[in-house]
Amino acid sequence: MKSLWDDNEAKQYQGDLGLRVYTSRLLGRDTSLVLHGGGNTSVKVTEKNIVGGEQALLCVKGSGWDLETIDTPGFPAVKLDHLIKLAELESLSDPEMVNELRTHMTDASAPTPSVEAILHATLPYKFVDHTHADAVVTITNTPKGLDKIKQIYGDSVVYIPYIMPGFDLARLCAIEFEKQRNDNTIGMVLMNHGIFSFADNAKESYERMITLVNMAEDYIKQQSAWALNYDTPAQDDCDAVALAELRLNISRAGGFPVVLSSQRDGKAMTFCNRSDLNKISQQGPATPDHVIRTKRLPLIGRDVDAYVDAYKSYFKTQSANARDPKTILDTAPRVILDKELGMVTAGKSVKEANIIADIYDHTMDIIARAELMGGWHALSAQDVFDMEYWDL
Ligand SMILES: [Zn+2]
Repeated sequence: MKSLWDDNEAKQYQGDLGLRVYTSRLLGRDTSLVLHGGGNTSVKVTEKNIVGGEQALLCVKGSGWDLETIDTPGFPAVKLDHLIKLAELESLSDPEMVNELRTHMTDASAPTPSVEAILHATLPYKFVDHTHADAVVTITNTPKGLDKIKQIYGDSVVYIPYIMPGFDLARLCAIEFEKQRNDNTIGMVLMNHGIFSFADNAKESYERMITLVNMAEDYIKQQSAWALNYDTPAQDDCDAVALAELRLNISRAGGFPVVLSSQRDGKAMTFCNRSDLNKISQQGPATPDHVIRTKRLPLIGRDVDAYVDAYKSYFKTQSANARDPKTILDTAPRVILDKELGMVTAGKSVKEANIIADIYDHTMDIIARAELMGGWHALSAQDVFDMEYWDL
């Protein structure tokens, strides 16, 4: 992975917020760092308010924006001092947190700040970058993932065990950052989730992300787990009737019409024909926020009714442990792995089907590499369920 920073391109962006837009887009351009709305970034600035007082603000990615195409309106400004005080509270519910974020913005019409705003606020650097880098989640989702991550990064990053995004994660990161920080600290690894980098200027923060992710990629190469053998031939033809039947059955299960996208290149055909497909594909997503798009598990083969039954039983088991009552979402699969049809994705639109295909295309590499490093080992069903059924 190379830094995409270009001095001439950077000159077109003015001020700290401008450079924040620029390097966020650079992160967004690399699909092995973030995909379709994943990741978030921030910058801390000082501005004069309407009565002439100076105020410190956190400009952080707002909901509904994608790093690849983000612009200045995608960074709502929130009062920084207040966010830092919030991080010191013992607890804060999700609705309370959203209320505090929204009532401490400087522009009432701005989008809601990222749920990771408080986490960004507590890190004492002007620029903070966060991605779900494929290489990092590949390593964290293997047995003894933490030992491997520590071997790669030594004391250059702060280590955070998996905990769901939101207030509790922000609070834990603030505490752990203070405990673990030292002169070499340039980032933070969130197990089974992703990675942060930070610095006081935009270029350095961005390039620290590239450096850290390269260290993870190099480790995977040293383990001979980088180059993948996708040697099953691509399938040019597909059984159109089988695909149409699948589409009908998924639409029935979902209660809405779906569009299917079918990937039958060497990668998809190799993955779908693996003898261990059942074990490796039935664990969970590479990073929890993919669950919103992909659901927790793909359907193997074409038995949609069996998938629906299994999904209902997963909901029943997991919702019994949830803090609040939950209502089941639609039960239709979003990713289908079939020996003949390849990797098929289902969406309510072409765009959605393609987004899910992009995510699972990366997931196949991540799982295949993790399998070469001791075994793919995803988060527990309960952790994934909590994300899938999170009100925010
Ligand atoms: Zn994240």
